[in-house]
Amino acid sequence: MPETQSVLIIDDDPVVAEIMETIFAGEVQITSCRNGPDGIAAAVAGAPDLILLDVRMPEMDGYEALKLLKSSSETEDIPVIFLTAKTETEDEFMGLELGAIDYISKPIIPRIVKVRIHNHLLLKRNRDQLANMSMIDGLTGIANRRRFDDYLDQEFRRGARSEYPVSLLMLDIDEFKIYNDSFGHQQGDECLKAVAAEIKSHSRRPSDLVARYGGEEFAVILPDTPLGAAQMLAEKIRAGVEGLQIAHPGAQATPYVTVSIGAACTENAGITALTDLIEVADKCLYRAKETGRNRVCKSLD
Ligand code: GH3
Ligand code: MG
Ligand code: MG
Repeated sequence: MPETQSVLIIDDDPVVAEIMETIFAGEVQITSCRNGPDGIAAAVAGAPDLILLDVRMPEMDGYEALKLLKSSSETEDIPVIFLTAKTETEDEFMGLELGAIDYISKPIIPRIVKVRIHNHLLLKRNRDQLANMSMIDGLTGIANRRRFDDYLDQEFRRGARSEYPVSLLMLDIDEFKIYNDSFGHQQGDECLKAVAAEIKSHSRRPSDLVARYGGEEFAVILPDTPLGAAQMLAEKIRAGVEGLQIAHPGAQATPYVTVSIGAACTENAGITALTDLIEVADKCLYRAKETGRNRVCKSLD
């Protein structure tokens, strides 16, 4: 059963929301606001799938509200339909040009409005699914490299702005080439899935992101996390992967599949750019490999 979609109505006339409630009776979650500023705040807070926006409202008209919605990264992608008694061609043109996807004129004809909104919600659902798929690694189901790059960029900036530390773990499966050579690529893939799931099971906060960085390399982004806490989490992940006891007879360190982990944090001296953070975490990972594998090395060790 797909998740219920939500529609936000911004209209000073309460009758519109009532009609919508009747039309969609429980199929769609309806929220309504009676003016532009409240509507914009509700759009930011609730991230609705669709906004129905009235044109003529006191304080702030619909055009102004649409301009504001389109100028913020948090709301610019939410489809907006104008719903209004103003039906001059010029009004319609202006609304569409400002970025509305459709224009429904009042008085509302319920059957028509229902089908139109239904179609727009279907498009929105497909769009969300595609966007989701483009950020997920096909084999392991965790975030892919593209998502990692976007999220690290976003969180690095946010961390700098809000003055909190962002930690990064870089993980690499130990002697995985031998594993593949012994058991074949398919079993290698199964191993990658199991390791990805294990890493993911240790990330508890919604803001943590576990990603597949490359072939048998993974990364964990930990916003608002100092190096000490990141190191502790890394140690849990390391022990967790070893604890899976996936047989790896060719390995030197233990007879099981293990990971080496490098941990770095924006608090470390010399980290001013995002690339520094990745570089330091990578160097630590390299040191973990050099000093025997199946271990965590953090910066400033
Ligand atoms: P180290 O302990 O130094 O990391 O040794 P390693 O053998 O893991 O390192 P190396 O980078 O030389 O080898 C990585 C291997 O990972 C190469 C390839 O066989 C395997 N690999 C990379 N991507 C995939 C994948 O998608 N599926 C499978 N099955 N294997 C992969
Ligand atoms: Mg590697
Ligand atoms: Mg490796």
